[in-house]
Amino acid sequence: SPTLRLILGDQLDVGHAWFQDKAQNVIYVIAELHQETNYTTHHIQKVCGFFSAMARFANALQQAQYQVCYLTLDDTAHDKDLPALIQRLCTEYHCALFEYQQPDEYRLAQQLSNMVLENTSVHCVQSSHFFLPFHEISTYFTKDKHVTMEHFYRKMRKRFGILMEGDTPTGGQWNFDSDNRAKLKKADIPLIPEPLLFSYDMSDIIARIQRHKINTFGELSQPFIWPTNRAEAQQLLTYFCKYLLPQFGKFQDAMTANSPHKWSLYHSRLSFALNSKILSPKHVIDAAINAYNANQDTITISQIEGFVRQILGWREYVRAVYWINMPDYATYNTLTATRDLPKQFWDGQTKMRCMQQAIKQSLDFAYAHHIQRLMVTGNFCLLTGIDPDQVDNWYLGIYIDAIEWVEMPNTRGMTQFADNGIVATKPYAASGNYINKMSDYCSGCHYNVKQKTTEDACPLNSLYWNFMIEHRTRFAKNPRIGMVYRNWDKQDDVTKQQTLQRAQYYLNNIDSL
Ligand code: FAD
Repeated sequence: SPTLRLILGDQLDVGHAWFQDKAQNVIYVIAELHQETNYTTHHIQKVCGFFSAMARFANALQQAQYQVCYLTLDDTAHDKDLPALIQRLCTEYHCALFEYQQPDEYRLAQQLSNMVLENTSVHCVQSSHFFLPFHEISTYFTKDKHVTMEHFYRKMRKRFGILMEGDTPTGGQWNFDSDNRAKLKKADIPLIPEPLLFSYDMSDIIARIQRHKINTFGELSQPFIWPTNRAEAQQLLTYFCKYLLPQFGKFQDAMTANSPHKWSLYHSRLSFALNSKILSPKHVIDAAINAYNANQDTITISQIEGFVRQILGWREYVRAVYWINMPDYATYNTLTATRDLPKQFWDGQTKMRCMQQAIKQSLDFAYAHHIQRLMVTGNFCLLTGIDPDQVDNWYLGIYIDAIEWVEMPNTRGMTQFADNGIVATKPYAASGNYINKMSDYCSGCHYNVKQKTTEDACPLNSLYWNFMIEHRTRFAKNPRIGMVYRNWDKQDDVTKQQTLQRAQYYLNNIDSL
């Protein structure tokens, strides 16, 4: 009797051991599920991205003579949830064995490990996507303990021999982060390359989403711009290595409102292809390092190191933080933040230009780059004390690359400090000055970034102080923050009072900022 193997929407990994040889009598199931479209409200492009990638993966397997059971929302509408569907298929096909790959998301891992099937045994196999094997996470990480990303990253560089000359790092130094903080000057802006975009016909998928009344938000750019199969993802990777990697590190933290390509800049936009496993992190890193080796006149070590650090360092790090701390991580709220997410997050209507730019492009493209997520929307939520459940929910829904294992440690941990410093040793709190340093957003803003207490003062300035003062007892102990409080203490009492009053005004009127 046949074996049924499940391929989840983020397991489109052609390099998995399952596909190394063509096992006989195996049926691969790829299914659109209501439980996956409904566990949060997703951006329309996110649903379209996953559904089209699943359809194309199913098609590629069929072309390669694998036996595939590909099911759309129409076919699974009456299955209560994933276990119910699996049970139905195992019964229909008389399967003796059901196999699945270890899910990356806690919710699905629990659901599948708790599943009991009548007359079919269940077997879980490892996914081979990450550098760090799943069962080794606990040798590097401990629950509720901070592990420094930089230490972990160096271990990973050594262990996998990436950008290493024997025992020493290529270029003589581990980290070139200090070279990665350039602002885009006026003369740099016309040189920003246009992004490589794709065009996949989504009309069937959209019709299905509408037919099944799936609740989504955001715009569907036409044509659909994200790569949803391996050939397209490979093209995007090649394009990145050629045109974007030479300036990737340098402008990694920069933001501008003054280019048609302001949303893409020098970022790879490979996160969807990586997180759906269309491309493996090893494949991406190898391609980038090959490009660096072949073009050292245009790609410097600080560019390639900056890119490798994101994937071999941060990406593996947050996945480990997630798994070592779940399920408790999802409940952490160290700063007891309880405010509701203001409505501008859903419509982009705000007078704060930085927020308007970051939210509008997220609604338009289901994408924002790291500094927009961290220092614009993330910082705003931190300073205003938004309930981390609502912050998580927004990030999980809006970005094409958002899957809980990567979204949550970045959001709840890195931006909101809700995990009490498991990810970040200090909160990423910033006043308007940071935005002004890294972008040209402030010049066209309704608010004045140089002001703190006036009616037109940039809200971030007073909100920053309000946040720091509210949590003084907790943060004053941190030697990296002590200086901030000395600066506050030096200000006169009237300024202090006016600053806190201005912050209060903004908090009371948060929906209309
Ligand atoms: P690039 O700038 O080109 O970077 C290359 C790759 O490095 C990315 O594709 C990604 O795989 C990896 N990477 C970079 N930074 C991180 C990071 N902090 N954590 C993990 N991987 C990283 N990334 C997601 O993939 N999904 C999410 O849901 C997600 N949510 C985030 C929420 C917040 C609040 C923040 C601050 C960051 C979040 N990130 C998330 C990380 C990062 O912002 C995105 O990976 C990145 O913007 C994706 O765009 P890109 O592919 O152009 O990245």
